[in-house]
Amino acid sequence: MAIIVHKYGGTSMGSPERIKNVARRVAKWHRAGHQMVVVVSAMSGETNRLIALAKEIMPNPDPRELDVVASTGEQVSIGLLAMALKVLGVEAVSFNGTQAGILTDSAYTKARIQSIDADVVKRELDAGKVVIVAGFQGRDAAGNVTTLGRGGSDTSGVAMAVALKAAECLIFTDVDGVYTTDPRIEPAARRLDVISFEEMLELASLGSKVLQIRSVEFAGKYHVPLRVLSSLTDPDIPVDVEAASGTLISFEEDPKMEKALVSGIACTRDESKITLVNVPDTPGIAYKILGPVAAHNIDVDMIVQNVGAQGTTDFTFTVPKGETERALKVIEEEVAPVCKPREVAVDKAIAKVSIVGIGMRSHAGVACRIFETLASEGINIQMIGTSEIKVSVVVEDKYMELAVRALHQAFGLAQDD
Ligand code: ASP
Ligand code: MG
Repeated sequence: MAIIVHKYGGTSMGSPERIKNVARRVAKWHRAGHQMVVVVSAMSGETNRLIALAKEIMPNPDPRELDVVASTGEQVSIGLLAMALKVLGVEAVSFNGTQAGILTDSAYTKARIQSIDADVVKRELDAGKVVIVAGFQGRDAAGNVTTLGRGGSDTSGVAMAVALKAAECLIFTDVDGVYTTDPRIEPAARRLDVISFEEMLELASLGSKVLQIRSVEFAGKYHVPLRVLSSLTDPDIPVDVEAASGTLISFEEDPKMEKALVSGIACTRDESKITLVNVPDTPGIAYKILGPVAAHNIDVDMIVQNVGAQGTTDFTFTVPKGETERALKVIEEEVAPVCKPREVAVDKAIAKVSIVGIGMRSHAGVACRIFETLASEGINIQMIGTSEIKVSVVVEDKYMELAVRALHQAFGLAQDD
């Protein structure tokens, strides 16, 4: 009998009615003969509420105690779902992260899973029960409660699937799969039946919010097939139909995937751009600027160093928008005294649009088509970054939607193409 892991997010668990629907869905899979492990998030809005509550008591909450508070939303969810299954006559048992044997490091609020001792869960599965596990949490070696970072239940789901050698991990959410781009921006966006793991990893890191990036990394490392599908459909649709719905994130070299040059377009307004004008064009300058920034744990994404003239150059990079002020402070205090830029310019009105596809590996000309498309819309490109399977451009933020739509069209990604 195959072990299947289902993961249900906050929206799927958002009300007693929805929890009852989750129970019906899980009961259906259980009846079909699968050993079922269900990983759940807190009811939607609950984790935000808990964190806000903590901040009312302590504006900068103690990280250990914040995790104690923030992890409780999931504990409510597991108990409620276990009850909903019992009401349907299905034997079920709930476990919090500690009980489920999820061991993490001690980095409160962003802990990483180190190992899972799945013996207890396995025993209950073998006894025929549905096992419900609280997502987003674990315990460290000393027994402290930890949480895995916002959206961390996806990672819990994948990690349980790895530990149990599950046949598949199904991530049920409020969208019915991974789309060629955000359908709110481009209504003609198409749902993908299959996407490669590498493409999904790029899309998740580039602003697609469907899966927490760490969950995709985890799935990639251990080759767990993942499927993203909707929890808001009729809970009684036949298991075999449901099992083939949504988007499969695959490790196989699927011949169907070969055909697509480009699989998806991601976009984000989450970064801002910092330029140091007129710094010395000498060996080590990038290190002198970005070394201190990295030392303060600020992620730098795109980097452009212009060609120097008269021994000086402009150096531009992007950081997460929320880190802009912190980055500027580092520049002012630690970089400017050394590099003496004529000016430090900051621009928060930028967007990054990225085109992803494993087909790019074997086809030249993708970047050119991007530049041509944006040029014909009169959109100026401020920065360009590439990897083997993606091209990212930074543009003025008011053009983001226009750029996405134009590129979606140019690469023939729409439904009827
Ligand atoms: N409840 C947690 C959060 O809101 C974890 C999750 O939903 O994945 O971030
Ligand atoms: Mg979530």
